[in-house]
Amino acid sequence: MDEPLRQRYSRQILFAEIGEKGQERLLGGSAVVVGCGAIGAAAANLLVRAGVGRVRVIDRDFVEASNLQRQALFEESDARDALPKAVAAERRLRLINSNVAVEGIVADINPENVEELLGGFDVILDGTDNFETRFLVNDFAVKSGTPWIYAAAVASYGLTMTVRPGVTACLACLLASERAGSGLEQTCDTVGVLGPIVNLIASLEVGEALKLLTGRVAALNDRLVSCDVWTGRFQSVRVARNADCAVCARGEFAHLDGEAQPHITMCGRDSVQIHERGRTLDLGLLKGRLSATIADVRQNDFLLRFRVEPYEMTVFADGRAILKGTKDPAVARSLYARYIGA
Ligand SMILES: [Zn+2]
Repeated sequence: MDEPLRQRYSRQILFAEIGEKGQERLLGGSAVVVGCGAIGAAAANLLVRAGVGRVRVIDRDFVEASNLQRQALFEESDARDALPKAVAAERRLRLINSNVAVEGIVADINPENVEELLGGFDVILDGTDNFETRFLVNDFAVKSGTPWIYAAAVASYGLTMTVRPGVTACLACLLASERAGSGLEQTCDTVGVLGPIVNLIASLEVGEALKLLTGRVAALNDRLVSCDVWTGRFQSVRVARNADCAVCARGEFAHLDGEAQPHITMCGRDSVQIHERGRTLDLGLLKGRLSATIADVRQNDFLLRFRVEPYEMTVFADGRAILKGTKDPAVARSLYARYIGA
């Protein structure tokens, strides 16, 4: 390791459990963060600062003002410009550490692209906000033998667990047990979420990632950890492998093998996402067409947004759209057909 690097990471190298050997492993390691909301952004920040050699961040959404209270990588201008989170995160992370190969990808993970997006990384970190994606990640991780770290937070409460395929319980083992759910069926959109809990959970998650990447597996926490920054309660419970787990025991990867996701999925309160795979849109052309009838059509390099009261529609170049103002798939579908095309 050359001197500038030794200096840059000196405090981490001084930590005996990592040392120079561990730092070298971090520099040669890779991590992928699935979802770049609050937990994902905090985790990516820590990974990049720690000098993990290659960090990929995947997110389907764009920055909004209501994210800024807890999503540590984003700024007011990102919300104003409606930048995709993956783009804003990549920009910021490159400024934080130019030694790291940072890659932000604007995409919605699905059975068709999961291999391409997650394949080849040493560890996968959960930054998602939904169980559909988590079960898909769990399937991929178990099948490919890649360790992954489950992490979730809502209100003042959060959970994390490290999954090592073949060694520990997997997410399907966990959620088949009596502790399933644990209040996480509530979402940030309905009960809110505090900045401190997402940063705490991301810190625990990245602590585990650093142990995995430096080969310190004996130090890994093999329990489900939960904590609440409001009550101050911390708990951990052992989660046994389920000898009959469909995923890690029987090798049935229903989410991976499953048909593509439904074309319309819920995406927070009062909004739905429409997936149109394999359809590329010319946003400039679309803007020209829409501007004839709609007053305020905004566009940046990645997306186009307009309002048709009481709805707001954000369309990505890959054909995906997020529609705010309705939960009704039929309404979403008809608005998409009318303004974007059937
Ligand atoms: Zn399992």
